[in-house]
Amino acid sequence: MQNKPDGNSIRKTFIEFFEKKGHTFVPSSSLVPGGDQTLLFTNAGMVQFKDVFLGLDKRPYSRAVNSQKCMRVAGKHNDLEDVGRDDIHHTFFEMLGNWSFGDYYKKEAVTWAWELLTEVWKLDKTKLWVTCFEDELGEIDADIEAFNAWKEQPGIDPSHILKFGRKDNFWEMADVGPCGPCSEIHIDRGEKFCNKKDDPNHECRVNGNCTRYVELWNLVFMQYNRISPKELIPLPKKHVDTGMGFERIVSVLQDVDSNYKTDLLLPLMDVVLGLTGDSEEGRDRNLTPYRVIADHARAASFLISDGVVPGNIGRNYICRMIIRRAARFGTKLNLHEPFLAKVAQEVIRIYGDAYPGLKKNQATILDNLTREEKRFKKTLDTGLSYLDQMMEENKQSKLISGEAAFELYATHGLPFEITRDIAAENGYKVDEDAYQKAMEQHRIESGAGKEFGPLGGEDAEKYAAFFKEICNSGKLPKEGVIYDPYDASNLEQPILALIQDGDLVDTVSEGDVVEVVLKKTNFYIQSGGQVADTGTIAAKDGSWTITVEDVRKPTTGLIVHLGQVTKGSPMVADTAVTAIDFKRRQDIMRNHTATHLLHAGLRKILGIHVRQAGSLVAPDRLRFDFTHPDGMTKDEIRKVEDFVNQAVLDNKPLHKVEKSLQQAIDEGAMALFGEKYGEQVRTVVIGEEEVTSYELCGGTHVDDTGEIGTFIIISEGSAAAGIRRIEAVTGREAQALIKKRLTQLESTAEKLQVPVDQVEDKLVAVLELEKQLEKENHDLQKKDAFAKYIDAKEKIENVGEIAVLTLYVKEVIPDTLRELADRFKGEIKDGVAVFATTNAKGDPVLLVACTPTVIKKGIKAGDVVNAAAEVVGGRGGGRPDLAQAGGKDATKIEEALEKAKEFVKNKLK
Ligand SMILES: [Zn+2]
Ligand SMILES: [Zn+2]
Repeated sequence: MQNKPDGNSIRKTFIEFFEKKGHTFVPSSSLVPGGDQTLLFTNAGMVQFKDVFLGLDKRPYSRAVNSQKCMRVAGKHNDLEDVGRDDIHHTFFEMLGNWSFGDYYKKEAVTWAWELLTEVWKLDKTKLWVTCFEDELGEIDADIEAFNAWKEQPGIDPSHILKFGRKDNFWEMADVGPCGPCSEIHIDRGEKFCNKKDDPNHECRVNGNCTRYVELWNLVFMQYNRISPKELIPLPKKHVDTGMGFERIVSVLQDVDSNYKTDLLLPLMDVVLGLTGDSEEGRDRNLTPYRVIADHARAASFLISDGVVPGNIGRNYICRMIIRRAARFGTKLNLHEPFLAKVAQEVIRIYGDAYPGLKKNQATILDNLTREEKRFKKTLDTGLSYLDQMMEENKQSKLISGEAAFELYATHGLPFEITRDIAAENGYKVDEDAYQKAMEQHRIESGAGKEFGPLGGEDAEKYAAFFKEICNSGKLPKEGVIYDPYDASNLEQPILALIQDGDLVDTVSEGDVVEVVLKKTNFYIQSGGQVADTGTIAAKDGSWTITVEDVRKPTTGLIVHLGQVTKGSPMVADTAVTAIDFKRRQDIMRNHTATHLLHAGLRKILGIHVRQAGSLVAPDRLRFDFTHPDGMTKDEIRKVEDFVNQAVLDNKPLHKVEKSLQQAIDEGAMALFGEKYGEQVRTVVIGEEEVTSYELCGGTHVDDTGEIGTFIIISEGSAAAGIRRIEAVTGREAQALIKKRLTQLESTAEKLQVPVDQVEDKLVAVLELEKQLEKENHDLQKKDAFAKYIDAKEKIENVGEIAVLTLYVKEVIPDTLRELADRFKGEIKDGVAVFATTNAKGDPVLLVACTPTVIKKGIKAGDVVNAAAEVVGGRGGGRPDLAQAGGKDATKIEEALEKAKEFVKNKLK
């Protein structure tokens, strides 16, 4: 190819091709999947459309095209160990896709795929192969429709249309749910690309597992819903979901044999080459570090741009790990100073137009990379020497224990993945299971809990069955329970179902824990940081009451109220009145609106780099985590507090309106990372002429900011590296806090016997007096100590030619002992002095001084003090002429002094 298209124009061509076919371009969603806690990172193009396929989300378009940012670095799809060692594996990659939601189907999908590849991109038709589904078990229909569609494509070689079974050509989202056959398009890159030529058993063909035939595009046709391992039912609406690995198509269209030789990644390796000063030949001989750095720098840049900064758990750990792994590979190229920011600048240059978030967050990306590299550098050497020692100790087994691997991370900052890399380089293995156990144990002990617990699974299936049963009885429409938390008034309706111990029951009794299903609810389900509502469900006739403690959505469509029967025996079909604990709800609303004001205030006072990184909206307080490198000053905290309180005094109205996501974004709404947004979003605007805050938010809010009352920041601190945490109170809690503080102040004033406004002056005077008394006391003790010293000197004992003085003075500061030691050395020519006292805790403190002549005789202060310290249960050290030790048992001080004397005696023999 003479004119190789560049990567950015290939992406653009794909999108524009499908736009011309009536598709709507949908921007990539964040790498942090919204609302899906089962997933660490967005790992496929369909993640943001999952709910559309499940019928839970509607979009204003039925055809979409996108280029999705993806990460595969942990969990089931984990290619980390291959990254850098071959041409195709990455942690971060892009996935191109075109989508039909109940619109076009196989014929169009096949025709357009063929058209784009052969007409637009002009790939050689004789090199293309396609596959269709044919069930090897004969249970599911073969995909004749796709087969026929392929046969009709102009110029296709009919012998290149192949049939494969379930493993290759049947796609399932999970054990249950939408699924269907797929068709793949492969390209034959020519014999020389086969990497298994030397393997006599290798059969060089499509799906033959070599690098000659590579899969370009997978077209998935969702036509069934799997309800059990053996049961498929046709979907009412059929969908198309396609995925084309972007790096791969770029490598094909740029006619290179490695993704790392495309203009997406080669420039990154060139930056590294510029830093190492190596030749291109040198790089080719030592390619792995270059590739790892290029891949990881790209991934880290995208992660940080999506709000994932280096940290200790979950996604933040992954960010830390890949930065450190890249830095470690850098040391293999003799790059010992932070260098990743330079590579990241190139990432931003290449990708910044397609992903503007990179440009917008450039400073944050570069800053986080460099700071993380610096942090890593501090502990790397001790970590590496500890690992060396571990390998030395386990020469026989060639196995590094999980505990050692954990210690390497917890104490020396060496992520497990790096330990594993280094161990492998030296022919060692690391016990990963034991490492995970040690990690888990630590997490439980440190109270951090599990970051990603199992979600869904058996529980979800069981509730899905309940949901089906309740729907089938005709009591609940299949759209599910109506959820409207914005109107908090009481509701009257019959009980649809009661669930007890995981079974549907007709009735429950007083004291029972139960889950209640109703047709409609306004109890808020915990989300977006806001906690769930509590309240009561009670019989209309007053005969029974259930106290509701939590509300949750265990499966699509179903909402359950978890509570305890506190009176009577509720029955299914009883008429119930539901009442939210409204006072508590009001407290929550105040805190939620205050959270939005706080967010706006932080951005105004600290800068727009501040972004929400976590939030808790509870009735008694709010907690807000945000990205900011340094601790806030007192002045900054006061200014933010003032900002919020001013907005409260201005009594700004709130407007909560649903509109399209695009319109909201265009109007400047702040979308949060890790939140999932449908096409229609709820917007919360504070202020009318002057907008103070504009966020996308599903939470409940006050109507006017005046309802918040006083806002008080009660703490500001670090939540994780680069993340600060503020806790604050509003409304009733703020009033209670003010009252408590005032009462404390009044009672302090009373005790000091001054009016409240003189408390500070009085306290300063009292503290001053205390200091003075303390000094006088010390002076007296010192005087006393010196008097005792003079006494002791008169009674000094000689051991041979050496004068040995021992002296125990109670409760003097260590400085006094040192002064005594100095005086002793000035007054005695050949001597050893052993002083003892007790510190404020009552523990023994020993100090030994030796004159130079004594040191020459082989008696060192450190040895003497240790001999004595052993008696009182301690240890110490210091110079040959002066050494100090601590201990535990003050009752043995006299004994310790005797021991010191004896030690000197023995030494002189
Ligand atoms: Zn082959
Ligand atoms: Zn909110």
